Amino acid sequence: MSLKQVVRPRIRSYICVTAHPNGCDARVREQIAYVKAQKPLKGGPKRALIIGASTGYGLASRIALAYGARAATLGIFYEKPCENERPASAGWYNSAAFEAQARKDGIWAKSLNGDAFSNELKVAAIDLIKKEMGQIDLVIYSLASPRRTDPQTNITYRSVLKPIGTSFTSKNLDTDRNEVTQITIAPAADGDIEGTVKVMGGEDWELWMEALDSAGLIAPGCNSVAYSYIGPTVTWPVYKNGTIGRAKEDLERAAKSIDALLKIHRGRAFISVNKAVVTQASSAIPVVPLYIALLFKAMKAHGIHEGCIEQAWRLFSTQMYNDNFLDFDEDGRVRLDNWEMREDIQKEVFDVWPNVTTENLNTLTDYAGYQSEFLKLFGFGINGVNYDEEVEINIPL
Ligand code: NAD
Repeated sequence: MSLKQVVRPRIRSYICVTAHPNGCDARVREQIAYVKAQKPLKGGPKRALIIGASTGYGLASRIALAYGARAATLGIFYEKPCENERPASAGWYNSAAFEAQARKDGIWAKSLNGDAFSNELKVAAIDLIKKEMGQIDLVIYSLASPRRTDPQTNITYRSVLKPIGTSFTSKNLDTDRNEVTQITIAPAADGDIEGTVKVMGGEDWELWMEALDSAGLIAPGCNSVAYSYIGPTVTWPVYKNGTIGRAKEDLERAAKSIDALLKIHRGRAFISVNKAVVTQASSAIPVVPLYIALLFKAMKAHGIHEGCIEQAWRLFSTQMYNDNFLDFDEDGRVRLDNWEMREDIQKEVFDVWPNVTTENLNTLTDYAGYQSEFLKLFGFGINGVNYDEEVEINIPL
């Protein structure tokens, strides 16, 4: 049923509850155009499974693989369709746009919308792969979720962003009110670490890989990558050394066990530590938006600014394919955050950090760039899109 509406952004805290279908379509096309302008990936995968494929790093990975290697992609995500006259979520529109364009360009693409943590979705994916893809050459694990129901016990766990041991006070950017404030975050309570590890750790990644292996769907040479973040020390109490950091440690543990499994198939599993970018997941992390606003200013000034698509492209084109070898750090991780963590960039960020106030936020930082990126996640603020016209919001996937 056709449903037309003028769609405006409606922002609630760090999320926009509306999304613009034409804007999301334009954003997907921008990313496709970026990849098309590069040299094709030599030796790239022919069949890829992307878990968390509708927004952020997962979507960019999907686009890079489809248009860089003409890979058939199966995308897994959990997005909301248009319902009760409310627009669908951005990830829904992104995926619809990607699939439609891929189909036009003769690139195989299918998606499953549902809970990736459930047994049912894994079974559905395995059936689809068996019937239509044969086997899988690359698995990207790019989920960011606030909760997970363990399929074995049916217990639901929640992921929280809290420091461990003591409370943490820091300068912070309140993106709702555009104010530089102080924030104090209480330490993790009983169960918070376990909950966050259950949701954002590596258990589900392992379950996916074991399920694919048992079904005989891992192709010779199949690789798998999951994404992580480390960042600067100011964010460590709430990130690296906080509850989410424990989950990322567990992801690294899982990477080693999956690596052992994939080596049997002559492939590898590893963690790629990516740079800080504006996504739905990162905008919810305290302290990080202020850091990103400063980081963008420094990286743009040095001509090394990157978003998700540039990072995904760098991973595939300079590390995994084109006769390249994985360049691991001492802990066996790929470091796509190497430009972010460059000494000169970090120095510029933290020379300015103490001086940022509400009044000078727009001159000392690239908060305008942050805000623009945030709106673009939901398809708003994109050149060439007419936001005053009624658009079809009931778009099928
Ligand atoms: P995102 O919010 O843009 O994407 C999350 C994806 O997970 C979406 O496709 C969503 O539909 C999917 N998803 C969530 N719950 C699901 C469920 N139950 N079942 C199926 N799909 C589900 O997030 P992102 O920022 O791209 O993060 C992806 C990964 O990259 C995370 O591991 C994150 O820690 C990592 N990372 C992010 C940044 C950053 O700055 N954003 C930096 C480095 C690493």
